[in-house]
Amino acid sequence: MNLPGPEIGKKTRGRHLGRPGKAQLSGRQSVIRYAKPTTVEEALALLGEDRWRILAGGTDFYPAQGAKPFRDNVLDINALAELRGIAETDDHWRVGARTTWTDIVRQPLPPAFDALKAGAREVGSVQIQNVASIAGNLCNASPAADGVPALLALDADVELRSLKAVRHLPLSEFILGNRRTALQPDEMVTAIRVPKRSAAGSSAFVKLGARRYLVISIAMAAARLVVENGVIAEAAIAVGSCSAVARRLAGVEATLRGRPIDEALVDAVLSAAYDELSPIADVRGSAEYREQAAREIVVRAVRAAVGLNQGKVAA
Ligand SMILES: Cc1cc2nc3c(=O)[nH]c(=O)nc-3n(C[C@H](O)[C@H](O)[C@H](O)COP(=O)(O)OP(=O)(O)OC[C@H]3O[C@@H](n4cnc5c(N)ncnc54)[C@H](O)[C@@H]3O)c2cc1C
Repeated sequence: MNLPGPEIGKKTRGRHLGRPGKAQLSGRQSVIRYAKPTTVEEALALLGEDRWRILAGGTDFYPAQGAKPFRDNVLDINALAELRGIAETDDHWRVGARTTWTDIVRQPLPPAFDALKAGAREVGSVQIQNVASIAGNLCNASPAADGVPALLALDADVELRSLKAVRHLPLSEFILGNRRTALQPDEMVTAIRVPKRSAAGSSAFVKLGARRYLVISIAMAAARLVVENGVIAEAAIAVGSCSAVARRLAGVEATLRGRPIDEALVDAVLSAAYDELSPIADVRGSAEYREQAAREIVVRAVRAAVGLNQGKVAA
Protein backbone atom coordinates (compact mmCIF):
# COMPACT_ATOMS: atom_id res chain seq x y z
CA MET A 1 0.00 0.00 0.00
CA ASN A 2 1.15 3.51 -0.75
CA LEU A 3 1.00 4.93 2.77
CA PRO A 4 3.24 7.99 3.25
CA GLY A 5 5.01 8.67 6.54
CA PRO A 6 6.79 6.53 9.11
CA GLU A 7 3.98 3.96 9.42
CA ILE A 8 4.53 2.59 5.91
CA GLY A 9 4.31 -1.17 5.78
CA LYS A 10 3.95 -1.59 9.53
CA LYS A 11 1.06 -3.78 10.49
CA THR A 12 -0.39 -3.55 13.96
CA ARG A 13 -1.80 -6.88 14.97
CA GLY A 14 -3.93 -6.44 18.05
CA ARG A 15 -2.75 -2.91 18.61
CA HIS A 16 -2.55 0.26 16.59
CA LEU A 17 0.27 2.59 15.88
CA GLY A 18 0.59 5.67 18.05
CA ARG A 19 -0.70 8.93 16.71
CA PRO A 20 2.21 11.24 15.96
CA GLY A 21 0.14 14.43 16.20
CA LYS A 22 -0.91 15.61 12.80
CA ALA A 23 -0.99 19.23 13.98
CA GLN A 24 2.76 19.22 14.62
CA LEU A 25 3.51 17.94 11.15
CA SER A 26 3.53 20.38 8.30
CA GLY A 27 2.48 20.11 4.64
CA ARG A 28 3.49 16.90 2.89
CA GLN A 29 4.55 15.19 6.09
CA SER A 30 1.01 14.36 7.28
CA VAL A 31 0.80 10.82 8.57
CA ILE A 32 -1.77 8.25 7.60
CA ARG A 33 -2.55 5.63 10.21
CA TYR A 34 -3.03 1.95 9.46
CA ALA A 35 -4.50 -0.41 12.04
CA LYS A 36 -5.49 -4.06 11.99
CA PRO A 37 -7.34 -4.73 15.24
CA THR A 38 -8.13 -8.27 16.37
CA THR A 39 -11.29 -7.52 18.35
CA VAL A 40 -14.42 -5.61 17.41
CA GLU A 41 -14.13 -3.58 20.65
CA GLU A 42 -10.68 -2.41 19.63
CA ALA A 43 -11.93 -1.51 16.14
CA LEU A 44 -14.82 0.47 17.64
CA ALA A 45 -12.46 2.29 20.00
CA LEU A 46 -10.37 3.38 17.02
CA LEU A 47 -13.49 4.49 15.11
CA GLY A 48 -14.48 6.54 18.14
CA GLU A 49 -11.22 8.47 18.33
CA ASP A 50 -10.41 9.36 14.69
CA ARG A 51 -11.71 9.18 11.12
CA TRP A 52 -10.97 5.91 9.29
CA ARG A 53 -11.77 4.21 5.99
CA ILE A 54 -12.65 0.60 6.60
CA LEU A 55 -10.89 -2.02 4.49
CA ALA A 56 -12.52 -5.45 4.13
CA GLY A 57 -11.92 -7.54 0.99
CA GLY A 58 -10.67 -4.43 -0.80
CA THR A 59 -12.44 -5.24 -4.09
CA ASP A 60 -14.29 -1.91 -4.11
CA PHE A 61 -11.84 -0.08 -1.81
CA TYR A 62 -8.75 -0.41 -4.03
CA PRO A 63 -10.44 0.30 -7.40
CA ALA A 64 -11.97 3.45 -5.82
CA GLN A 65 -8.53 4.45 -4.49
CA GLY A 66 -6.82 3.95 -7.83
CA ALA A 67 -3.31 5.41 -7.96
CA LYS A 68 -4.14 8.36 -5.69
CA PRO A 69 -2.10 8.74 -2.51
CA PHE A 70 -3.92 7.69 0.66
CA ARG A 71 -5.44 10.63 2.52
CA ASP A 72 -7.48 8.75 5.11
CA ASN A 73 -6.48 6.42 7.90
CA VAL A 74 -7.05 2.79 6.99
CA LEU A 75 -8.82 0.44 9.40
CA ASP A 76 -8.20 -3.09 8.16
CA ILE A 77 -10.90 -5.38 9.59
CA ASN A 78 -9.49 -8.60 8.13
CA ALA A 79 -8.29 -9.88 11.51
CA LEU A 80 -11.78 -9.64 13.06
CA ALA A 81 -12.56 -13.37 12.98
CA GLU A 82 -15.80 -12.85 14.89
CA LEU A 83 -17.26 -10.93 11.92
CA ARG A 84 -17.03 -13.89 9.56
CA GLY A 85 -19.57 -16.69 9.25
CA ILE A 86 -23.30 -17.40 9.36
CA ALA A 87 -25.11 -18.31 12.56
CA GLU A 88 -28.69 -19.24 13.41
CA THR A 89 -30.26 -17.63 16.48
CA ASP A 90 -33.81 -18.04 17.83
CA ASP A 91 -35.14 -15.19 15.68
CA HIS A 92 -32.61 -14.61 12.92
CA TRP A 93 -30.05 -15.87 10.48
CA ARG A 94 -27.02 -13.73 11.27
CA VAL A 95 -24.44 -13.17 8.53
CA GLY A 96 -21.20 -11.63 9.83
CA ALA A 97 -20.10 -8.47 8.01
CA ARG A 98 -16.89 -10.07 6.69
CA THR A 99 -18.60 -13.20 5.39
CA THR A 100 -17.50 -13.67 1.81
CA TRP A 101 -19.68 -14.54 -1.14
CA THR A 102 -17.96 -17.94 -1.31
CA ASP A 103 -18.81 -18.54 2.36
CA ILE A 104 -22.46 -17.83 1.55
CA VAL A 105 -22.49 -20.16 -1.46
CA ARG A 106 -20.96 -22.99 0.62
CA GLN A 107 -23.18 -22.64 3.70
CA PRO A 108 -26.23 -24.94 3.88
CA LEU A 109 -29.20 -22.54 4.14
CA PRO A 110 -32.98 -22.74 3.60
CA PRO A 111 -34.27 -22.40 -0.01
CA ALA A 112 -35.33 -18.80 0.74
CA PHE A 113 -31.58 -18.01 0.51
CA ASP A 114 -31.19 -19.53 -2.97
CA ALA A 115 -31.55 -16.06 -4.54
CA LEU A 116 -28.77 -14.72 -2.30
CA LYS A 117 -26.56 -17.67 -3.22
CA ALA A 118 -27.25 -17.13 -6.91
CA GLY A 119 -26.44 -13.42 -6.48
CA ALA A 120 -23.22 -14.38 -4.67
CA ARG A 121 -22.15 -16.50 -7.66
CA GLU A 122 -22.65 -13.45 -9.90
CA VAL A 123 -20.34 -11.08 -7.99
CA GLY A 124 -17.36 -10.65 -10.31
CA SER A 125 -15.40 -13.88 -10.57
CA VAL A 126 -14.64 -16.72 -8.18
CA GLN A 127 -11.43 -14.92 -7.13
CA ILE A 128 -13.50 -11.84 -6.20
CA GLN A 129 -16.12 -13.96 -4.40
CA ASN A 130 -13.36 -15.57 -2.30
CA VAL A 131 -12.37 -12.26 -0.66
CA ALA A 132 -15.26 -9.83 -1.18
CA SER A 133 -17.62 -9.41 1.76
CA ILE A 134 -21.35 -8.99 2.05
CA ALA A 135 -21.03 -5.77 4.11
CA GLY A 136 -18.58 -4.29 1.60
CA ASN A 137 -21.20 -4.77 -1.12
CA LEU A 138 -23.84 -2.93 0.95
CA CYS A 139 -21.53 -0.16 2.19
CA ASN A 140 -20.25 0.56 -1.31
CA ALA A 141 -23.91 1.27 -2.16
CA SER A 142 -23.68 0.79 -5.91
CA PRO A 143 -27.07 0.65 -7.67
CA ALA A 144 -25.66 -2.47 -9.37
CA ALA A 145 -24.69 -4.30 -6.14
CA ASP A 146 -25.72 -7.90 -6.77
CA GLY A 147 -26.27 -8.74 -3.10
CA VAL A 148 -28.95 -6.15 -2.46
CA PRO A 149 -32.11 -7.44 -4.25
CA ALA A 150 -32.01 -10.88 -2.60
CA LEU A 151 -31.38 -9.33 0.83
CA LEU A 152 -34.31 -6.93 0.31
CA ALA A 153 -36.51 -9.90 -0.58
CA LEU A 154 -35.40 -11.54 2.70
CA ASP A 155 -36.34 -8.40 4.72
CA ALA A 156 -32.73 -8.18 5.88
CA ASP A 157 -31.54 -5.58 8.36
CA VAL A 158 -28.08 -4.15 8.93
CA GLU A 159 -26.41 -4.24 12.35
CA LEU A 160 -24.35 -1.13 13.01
CA ARG A 161 -22.10 -0.87 16.04
CA SER A 162 -20.25 2.03 17.60
CA LEU A 163 -18.64 2.28 21.02
CA LYS A 164 -21.86 3.84 22.30
CA ALA A 165 -24.63 1.79 20.71
CA VAL A 166 -25.85 -1.03 18.52
CA ARG A 167 -28.60 -0.25 16.04
CA HIS A 168 -30.44 -2.27 13.43
CA LEU A 169 -31.68 -0.61 10.26
CA PRO A 170 -33.82 -2.27 7.60
CA LEU A 171 -31.63 -2.58 4.51
CA SER A 172 -34.01 -0.23 2.65
CA GLU A 173 -33.17 2.47 5.23
CA PHE A 174 -29.44 1.74 5.30
CA ILE A 175 -28.70 2.38 1.63
CA LEU A 176 -29.81 5.96 1.03
CA GLY A 177 -28.75 6.49 -2.58
CA ASN A 178 -25.99 5.97 -5.10
CA ARG A 179 -22.85 5.54 -2.90
CA ARG A 180 -24.72 6.88 0.16
CA THR A 181 -25.51 4.96 3.32
CA ALA A 182 -26.71 5.72 6.85
CA LEU A 183 -23.32 4.59 8.28
CA GLN A 184 -21.97 7.13 10.79
CA PRO A 185 -18.21 7.86 10.99
CA ASP A 186 -17.87 6.11 14.36
CA GLU A 187 -19.79 3.01 13.25
CA MET A 188 -19.06 -0.18 11.42
CA VAL A 189 -21.38 -2.83 10.03
CA THR A 190 -21.03 -5.95 12.15
CA ALA A 191 -23.74 -8.18 10.66
CA ILE A 192 -26.64 -8.53 8.29
CA ARG A 193 -29.64 -10.25 9.85
CA VAL A 194 -32.51 -12.09 8.18
CA PRO A 195 -35.62 -12.63 10.35
CA LYS A 196 -36.55 -16.33 10.58
CA ARG A 197 -40.13 -15.57 9.53
CA SER A 198 -38.79 -14.13 6.24
CA ALA A 199 -36.51 -17.10 5.58
CA ALA A 200 -39.55 -18.98 4.27
CA GLY A 201 -40.47 -20.14 0.78
CA SER A 202 -38.33 -20.58 -2.29
CA SER A 203 -36.37 -17.94 -4.15
CA ALA A 204 -34.45 -17.18 -7.33
CA PHE A 205 -32.21 -14.44 -8.72
CA VAL A 206 -31.74 -13.40 -12.35
CA LYS A 207 -29.01 -11.05 -13.53
CA LEU A 208 -28.91 -9.41 -16.93
CA GLY A 209 -25.49 -8.27 -18.13
CA ALA A 210 -23.90 -7.50 -21.47
CA ARG A 211 -22.10 -10.86 -21.26
CA ARG A 212 -22.40 -13.97 -19.13
CA TYR A 213 -19.39 -13.62 -16.78
CA LEU A 214 -17.60 -10.89 -14.81
CA VAL A 215 -20.05 -8.18 -15.71
CA ILE A 216 -21.87 -5.30 -14.05
CA SER A 217 -25.65 -5.75 -14.01
CA ILE A 218 -27.88 -3.91 -16.47
CA ALA A 219 -30.75 -5.12 -14.32
CA MET A 220 -31.24 -7.90 -11.78
CA ALA A 221 -34.23 -9.34 -9.95
CA ALA A 222 -34.79 -11.46 -6.86
CA ALA A 223 -38.05 -13.25 -6.12
CA ARG A 224 -39.02 -15.04 -2.90
CA LEU A 225 -42.39 -16.74 -2.85
CA VAL A 226 -44.27 -18.76 -0.26
CA VAL A 227 -46.74 -21.10 -1.95
CA GLU A 228 -49.52 -22.81 0.00
CA ASN A 229 -51.85 -25.32 -1.68
CA GLY A 230 -50.81 -24.15 -5.13
CA VAL A 231 -51.52 -20.49 -4.33
CA ILE A 232 -48.99 -17.72 -3.67
CA ALA A 233 -49.39 -16.77 -0.01
CA GLU A 234 -46.42 -14.40 0.26
CA ALA A 235 -44.41 -12.56 -2.39
CA ALA A 236 -41.21 -10.53 -2.05
CA ILE A 237 -39.84 -9.11 -5.30
CA ALA A 238 -36.87 -6.73 -5.64
CA VAL A 239 -35.11 -5.24 -8.64
CA GLY A 240 -31.66 -3.63 -8.80
CA SER A 241 -29.84 -1.42 -11.31
CA CYS A 242 -33.12 0.22 -12.36
CA SER A 243 -33.16 2.96 -9.69
CA ALA A 244 -30.52 4.65 -7.53
CA VAL A 245 -31.11 1.98 -4.90
CA ALA A 246 -32.51 -1.51 -5.50
CA ARG A 247 -36.21 -1.53 -4.60
CA ARG A 248 -38.98 -3.89 -3.54
CA LEU A 249 -41.89 -3.79 -6.01
CA ALA A 250 -45.16 -3.43 -4.06
CA GLY A 251 -47.35 -3.53 -7.20
CA VAL A 252 -45.87 -6.79 -8.43
CA GLU A 253 -46.05 -8.33 -4.97
CA ALA A 254 -49.75 -7.39 -4.64
CA THR A 255 -50.45 -8.84 -8.09
CA LEU A 256 -48.84 -12.15 -7.12
CA ARG A 257 -50.41 -12.62 -3.70
CA GLY A 258 -53.40 -14.99 -3.83
CA ARG A 259 -52.66 -16.11 -7.39
CA PRO A 260 -52.51 -19.79 -8.38
CA ILE A 261 -49.26 -21.09 -9.85
CA ASP A 262 -49.89 -21.37 -13.58
CA GLU A 263 -48.75 -19.82 -16.83
CA ALA A 264 -51.22 -16.92 -16.39
CA LEU A 265 -48.72 -15.59 -13.85
CA VAL A 266 -46.52 -14.38 -16.68
CA ASP A 267 -48.97 -11.86 -18.13
CA ALA A 268 -49.96 -10.72 -14.65
CA VAL A 269 -46.33 -9.98 -13.74
CA LEU A 270 -45.59 -8.33 -17.09
CA SER A 271 -48.53 -5.95 -16.78
CA ALA A 272 -48.21 -5.17 -13.05
CA ALA A 273 -47.23 -1.69 -11.77
CA TYR A 274 -43.47 -1.13 -11.50
CA ASP A 275 -43.82 2.33 -9.92
CA GLU A 276 -40.65 2.06 -7.81
CA LEU A 277 -38.34 1.85 -10.82
CA SER A 278 -36.74 4.94 -12.37
CA PRO A 279 -34.12 3.46 -14.68
CA ILE A 280 -31.33 5.63 -16.01
CA ALA A 281 -29.81 5.49 -19.48
CA ASP A 282 -26.09 4.75 -19.56
CA VAL A 283 -23.50 2.95 -21.62
CA ARG A 284 -25.03 -0.40 -20.61
CA GLY A 285 -28.61 0.30 -21.70
CA SER A 286 -31.32 2.91 -22.31
CA ALA A 287 -33.95 3.65 -19.68
CA GLU A 288 -36.66 2.07 -21.87
CA TYR A 289 -34.61 -1.09 -22.35
CA ARG A 290 -33.99 -1.39 -18.61
CA GLU A 291 -37.70 -0.92 -17.85
CA GLN A 292 -38.66 -3.71 -20.27
CA ALA A 293 -35.78 -5.93 -19.19
CA ALA A 294 -36.80 -5.54 -15.55
CA ARG A 295 -40.27 -6.96 -16.30
CA GLU A 296 -38.78 -9.87 -18.22
CA ILE A 297 -36.27 -10.83 -15.53
CA VAL A 298 -38.89 -10.54 -12.78
CA VAL A 299 -40.98 -13.05 -14.76
CA ARG A 300 -37.96 -15.36 -15.05
CA ALA A 301 -37.15 -15.06 -11.34
CA VAL A 302 -40.77 -15.75 -10.35
CA ARG A 303 -40.96 -18.76 -12.69
CA ALA A 304 -37.70 -20.14 -11.34
CA ALA A 305 -38.70 -19.56 -7.71
CA VAL A 306 -41.95 -21.51 -8.06
CA GLY A 307 -40.44 -24.21 -10.27
CA LEU A 308 -42.44 -23.38 -13.42
CA ASN A 309 -39.25 -23.68 -15.48
CA GLN A 310 -38.56 -27.29 -14.50
CA GLY A 311 -42.19 -28.32 -14.70
CA LYS A 312 -42.12 -28.97 -10.95
CA VAL A 313 -44.28 -26.50 -9.08
CA ALA A 314 -43.83 -25.43 -5.44
CA ALA A 315 -46.68 -26.82 -3.31
C1 LIG B 1 -13.23 -7.18 -10.96
C2 LIG B 1 -14.40 -6.85 -10.06
C3 LIG B 1 -15.67 -7.29 -10.40
C4 LIG B 1 -16.75 -7.01 -9.58
N1 LIG B 1 -17.97 -7.47 -9.95
C5 LIG B 1 -19.05 -7.24 -9.15
C6 LIG B 1 -20.32 -7.73 -9.54
O1 LIG B 1 -20.50 -8.40 -10.56
N2 LIG B 1 -21.38 -7.45 -8.69
C7 LIG B 1 -21.22 -6.73 -7.55
O2 LIG B 1 -22.20 -6.52 -6.83
N3 LIG B 1 -20.02 -6.24 -7.19
C8 LIG B 1 -18.92 -6.48 -7.96
N4 LIG B 1 -17.70 -5.99 -7.60
C9 LIG B 1 -17.61 -5.17 -6.40
C10 LIG B 1 -17.18 -5.87 -5.10
O3 LIG B 1 -16.50 -7.08 -5.33
C11 LIG B 1 -18.35 -6.13 -4.13
O4 LIG B 1 -19.11 -4.98 -3.92
C12 LIG B 1 -17.83 -6.68 -2.79
O5 LIG B 1 -18.86 -7.37 -2.11
C13 LIG B 1 -17.20 -5.61 -1.89
O6 LIG B 1 -16.73 -6.24 -0.70
P1 LIG B 1 -15.27 -5.99 -0.10
O7 LIG B 1 -15.16 -6.81 1.13
O8 LIG B 1 -14.22 -6.19 -1.13
O9 LIG B 1 -15.37 -4.44 0.29
P2 LIG B 1 -14.22 -3.34 0.37
O10 LIG B 1 -13.73 -3.04 -0.99
O11 LIG B 1 -13.21 -3.71 1.39
O12 LIG B 1 -15.09 -2.12 0.94
C14 LIG B 1 -16.12 -1.54 0.16
C15 LIG B 1 -16.70 -0.35 0.93
O13 LIG B 1 -17.38 -0.79 2.10
C16 LIG B 1 -16.80 -0.25 3.29
N5 LIG B 1 -16.86 -1.35 4.27
C17 LIG B 1 -16.48 -2.63 4.08
N6 LIG B 1 -16.79 -3.38 5.15
C18 LIG B 1 -17.37 -2.54 6.05
C19 LIG B 1 -17.93 -2.72 7.34
N7 LIG B 1 -17.95 -3.92 7.95
N8 LIG B 1 -18.46 -1.65 7.97
C20 LIG B 1 -18.46 -0.44 7.38
N9 LIG B 1 -17.96 -0.19 6.14
C21 LIG B 1 -17.42 -1.24 5.48
C22 LIG B 1 -15.40 0.17 2.89
O14 LIG B 1 -14.93 1.22 3.69
C23 LIG B 1 -15.62 0.61 1.46
O15 LIG B 1 -16.17 1.91 1.42
C24 LIG B 1 -16.58 -6.26 -8.39
C25 LIG B 1 -15.29 -5.82 -8.04
C26 LIG B 1 -14.22 -6.10 -8.87
C27 LIG B 1 -12.85 -5.61 -8.48
